[in-house]
Amino acid sequence: MQRAPFNAAVSMDVTPPMDAKTYTHDEVGAMLRDHGINPTAQRVEIARELFSRKGHFSAEDVFSLVNNEQAQVSKATVYNTLGLFAERGLIRQLIVDPTKVFYDPNMTPHYHFYDVVTGKLTDINAEAVRITGLPPLPAGAQMEGVDVIVRMRRPNIEAG
Ligand SMILES: [Zn+2]
Repeated sequence: MQRAPFNAAVSMDVTPPMDAKTYTHDEVGAMLRDHGINPTAQRVEIARELFSRKGHFSAEDVFSLVNNEQAQVSKATVYNTLGLFAERGLIRQLIVDPTKVFYDPNMTPHYHFYDVVTGKLTDINAEAVRITGLPPLPAGAQMEGVDVIVRMRRPNIEAG
């Protein structure tokens, strides 16, 4: 068995992540409605945590953030809400591996470094990466997007 030739080339440099701002309940409610999502109190709370902080969050991170003061949002609700947000294009779902899924409220085109030791994701500016040599799409297909996750390890830095 021989694989079809695939000569994609990637080159990059790195820029810092976007600035965060604090969103009001009304602003977040409007964002949800813009994406066809009914802004229930729990959804607004989850979206407010994500958009006010920015960064890359696991479902567990989001669960702890929204239940910081008192437990009020169940794990199932957090998972379902994140899934809904990703499906409606409000946030981006990053599947680093089948056991590590992150949610990213930054919808501007960008890519990621993944540190396999610390488990941290860092943004890579889209303009810093040039992807060339992709094979043509099958007839009639349209490009939805390209994900680049650069997995890295820094041998001199201890985990934790
Ligand atoms: Zn990101």
